Amino acid sequence: MQKSCPICGELNNCEMNNPDKACWCTTMSFPANIFEKISEADVGRVCVCKNCVENAEE
Ligand SMILES: [Zn+2]
Ligand SMILES: [Zn+2]
Repeated sequence: MQKSCPICGELNNCEMNNPDKACWCTTMSFPANIFEKISEADVGRVCVCKNCVENAEE
């Protein structure tokens, strides 16, 4: 799993690799327009950071 956000390149703090902890991204609802910013190959595979999710909601 890639550790950097595909939009801004910062660490995304994804916990998908950690079996003891569910990543925040599994419970977060992502605005539809955020997927337009990510390449198709990365959707569902790479975590976006919280900042970018919050920015996309505006
Ligand atoms: Zn980001
Ligand atoms: Zn995640």
